[in-house]
Amino acid sequence: MNDPDAKPTKNLRQETVRVLLPLPLGDGYDYLVPPSLTLGKGSFVTVPLGRKEEVIGIVWDEGSGKVEASKLKAITSVLDLAPLDETTRRFVDWVAGYTLTPAGSILKMVLGGQLRPLKDKDKLPCTLADFKTNLSFPRKRESSAECQRGKRLMSAADAAQLDSRFRGNDEVGENNAQNILSEYGNYIDTLAPVLSPEQESAAAALTAAVKDNTFSVTLLDGVTGSGKTEVYGEALAQCFKDGRQALLLLPEIAMTAALFSRLEARFGLAPTLWHSGLTEKQRRLNWHAIKQGKARFILGARSALFLPYADLGLIVVDEEHEGAYKQEEGVIYHGRDMAVVRANVGAIPIVLASATPSLETLHNVQQGKYRHLILRRRFGEASMPTIKIIDLRHEKMPTQSFISDPLLQALQSAVENGQQAMLFLNRRGYAPLTLCRACGLRLQCPSCTSWMIEHKRTGRLHCHQCGYNMTVPKACPTCGAEDKFAACGPGIERIAEEIAVRLPEARTAIMASDTIADAKAAQAMVKQMDDHAIDLLIGTQIMAKGYHFPRLTTVGVIDADLGLAGGDPRAAERTFQLLQQVAGRSGRAEEAGTVYLQTTNPDHPVMRALMAGERDAFMQAEMRERKNYHLPPFGRLATITVAGADKQQVIDIARHIAAASPQNKNMRILGPAPAPFAILRGKHRYRLMVQAGRGVSLSSAIGAWLAPLPLPRTIKVQVDIDPYSFL
Ligand code: ADP
Ligand code: ZN
Repeated sequence: MNDPDAKPTKNLRQETVRVLLPLPLGDGYDYLVPPSLTLGKGSFVTVPLGRKEEVIGIVWDEGSGKVEASKLKAITSVLDLAPLDETTRRFVDWVAGYTLTPAGSILKMVLGGQLRPLKDKDKLPCTLADFKTNLSFPRKRESSAECQRGKRLMSAADAAQLDSRFRGNDEVGENNAQNILSEYGNYIDTLAPVLSPEQESAAAALTAAVKDNTFSVTLLDGVTGSGKTEVYGEALAQCFKDGRQALLLLPEIAMTAALFSRLEARFGLAPTLWHSGLTEKQRRLNWHAIKQGKARFILGARSALFLPYADLGLIVVDEEHEGAYKQEEGVIYHGRDMAVVRANVGAIPIVLASATPSLETLHNVQQGKYRHLILRRRFGEASMPTIKIIDLRHEKMPTQSFISDPLLQALQSAVENGQQAMLFLNRRGYAPLTLCRACGLRLQCPSCTSWMIEHKRTGRLHCHQCGYNMTVPKACPTCGAEDKFAACGPGIERIAEEIAVRLPEARTAIMASDTIADAKAAQAMVKQMDDHAIDLLIGTQIMAKGYHFPRLTTVGVIDADLGLAGGDPRAAERTFQLLQQVAGRSGRAEEAGTVYLQTTNPDHPVMRALMAGERDAFMQAEMRERKNYHLPPFGRLATITVAGADKQQVIDIARHIAAASPQNKNMRILGPAPAPFAILRGKHRYRLMVQAGRGVSLSSAIGAWLAPLPLPRTIKVQVDIDPYSFL
């Protein structure tokens, strides 16, 4: 029968569909499909919701049938956007199930927050190659290889021509697009560094994985300064030559700024950024460019993982061991782990790079699940730094002084010799504690279990948990004594103060999350270091990562023991990684580096392993510990945190949850006990720890356990599957 009035065929014949909304509302709702609309799974639609006329959502599936069709509202419109691809949709469902988070909350990340359609005058950033018409390198190139690279650059006129052809890429035919692609391939080959034999074989293995175009995980395990960036750069280049998108994840925004120009120079195209520091307009443009496949090279923080890539061919996770990949608020997930899942769902290769791989990743290598590529040597003339221990028990230091004489001398001679130095202390502000000398009162945040920390920069006391701040009170609120408050212990501002007195000729700068507020500030700092406008950088862990300062030879760690306190079974691994990374900033060019660790605990396995350069033996010992205690990766962990304003109610609910726990001999419930920050932003927090055998699916077990429990609105329950801290 030939009906001239037939409607266009629908992918979904059902009259109702389930629409997922980017809201924390579970699995979405059923809507009617008006006969006038053509849509399928993944279609972007607008629907009425409550009093709102139009909310953007995605057609997720056939209708669930939970609500009678006659009671449903209808989809209002279909947006002019290609449907959300199946890989992204499967990834959303997987992450939602694993993290016990409503799928709508994951979808919100896919949409980059709030979806904003393109405006008419919007011009999308970078097509395949957003060639600079003049590829002058923003930074002075240091190594001879890079100078060579500079010489072989395409002429400005050629680059401009290629650029304009790429920009017209929508109109060019398929053949022409192929030609342009191979032209671009040749071009980026001319920018490639000359690799050392060790680098070459690692790079060959990675490019082979990209060509294989199937799921694989490779650990690129290379000492600091071995050229990991250059090596995975070859894999990225292969991906671009294949005309596909590649994602490079970094643990921190500041690092994206530091690497940006280096990457731009390597590939002749500016990476498309994705992180929380973008403006509204940048978000809109970059999101659409990524979805349309026009942005080929995406450089981002963990949230970039969720974007709807048109054709993702490779993921690289740099500094894979970094705790900063773990998101602890909102949707709780580990960026590295979810990146592996994303690669698996999309059937593409993923590269994890680190000089100090996490114990979990090393375990996967030992299990044969991950491939392992090793770079044992630093590139070029550079050698590994020498590590020296300064035993603070034998150093006579005046009170209120935190830099020992040997360390000060080392800093001084570095500065005098025209080199740069770095002092590391993982404590922001001036002093970690402010106490009353009359009665001993320590000033604490009124709404957190956290000390108030003095900052000279602002002249105030700050809570590092909630941001509350106040002036130093004149009189002690407990004993009334006036002007008796004293700063106790060092923060980086206090170290800077000591340097100003003891090494006044050094030009210093402070690098911490509060002084380097955004990517711009980080870039400016990197430039100042490159220009040698700074002799001595004083900072927290944000300066430990990935930076390459060729003049930096001397590194001092003010308190190497700091991270070991507190009893978390992961503390030793974390401290080792952090100190090794800090140490790895030194001696990266011709001049040899020396690292001074101030410690009162020189015999601790972490200090011994650092001194002897015995990472593998240290990690094996840690692994045996974990195995003995059935800790991850040999067992599984999850925490359930109950929070609320009323302490008694929090305790009651936490106990109630514990009492309702399933009977499973492979699962053990510990607690409830006060959480590490027992009060945070005025909310009391109690926590249950769930320990289980490797075979247990914690997500479904905990999901089934918590789902039927009625919870008052005043209580918030948060589940963290695979918590980063084991405390
Ligand atoms: P990693 O990430 O392993 O710490 P990088 O990739 O930052 O090391 O490399 C350290 C330095 O050595 C960088 O300045 C980098 O450009 C340089 N380098 C490494 N390999 C090469 C190479 N094959 N040719 C030229 N320069 C290189
Ligand atoms: Zn606080």
